Amino acid sequence: MLSLQVNQLTKVYSNHTLALNQISFKAKPGESVVILGANGSGKSTLLRCLVGLEKPTSGQVFLGNWEVTALPNARLRTVRRRVGMVFQHFNLVKNLSAFHNVLQGALGRSRGPWYWFPATAPAVERQRAMDCLAQVHLADLATQRVDTLSGGQQQRVAIARMLMQNPDIVLVDEPVASLDPKAGREVMDLLYTIVREQGLTMICNLHQLDLAMTYADRIIGLSSGQIVLDQPVTNVNSDALDWLYQRSAPKVQSEVIARR
Ligand code: ADP
Repeated sequence: MLSLQVNQLTKVYSNHTLALNQISFKAKPGESVVILGANGSGKSTLLRCLVGLEKPTSGQVFLGNWEVTALPNARLRTVRRRVGMVFQHFNLVKNLSAFHNVLQGALGRSRGPWYWFPATAPAVERQRAMDCLAQVHLADLATQRVDTLSGGQQQRVAIARMLMQNPDIVLVDEPVASLDPKAGREVMDLLYTIVREQGLTMICNLHQLDLAMTYADRIIGLSSGQIVLDQPVTNVNSDALDWLYQRSAPKVQSEVIARR
């Protein structure tokens, strides 16, 4: 598993928006961190900077021994093969089956005509794709086009595709923001069960306080692009989280996290 280290990461967009302001944190191999913050607090920008999809204005990101922020694009693509991503809008190929979408998670390590004709994929990859679908309880819907599946099922296909990649670290951006609460809980239960069972390092963006309190081991709170909270969830109380959402000027951590 890969560790993650972020040093003084700052991102100023071309319209002068200061999206990230001197962000620093580390995630140990196997650690599961929730980045929590209101809309516009910088969560997506941070996640994109972690894999080089966005270039920071200054600062460094290390994934294991790779300095992501210093790698040329060709090397970045190699690093991204080790990073599983799950997005709010699933990012599936809508007119393909669940099985075919999951199989595409193997593209980083193996390519061939089976990109278009999954029946020609190596047997070992086809079996693995079925195993990944079974892990998200969708083996029986393998042949169904994903645009005929519910939102929760589509997100489970996206999780299976991420597993197919065999990643060392998982970055998840608002995984349940497009789902109803029940489907959202099911997806979160599944995601966290799998991540914990496999000991994966995970960074997960969320804006729902209740989900963060239920699933996180550690919460990093962002407000206006700054870290205003970085604590194990057991040290965080609801007042601290309410404060986070008031979007007031950043305060020092010790003022906001003390349990009453
Ligand atoms: P979150 O994911 O927490 O909603 P974002 O990272 O999307 O936050 O946005 C942080 C800030 O950066 C917001 O003020 C947003 O409007 C701004 N922002 C995001 N993307 C861009 C962009 N491509 N160009 C300019 N400003 C942006």
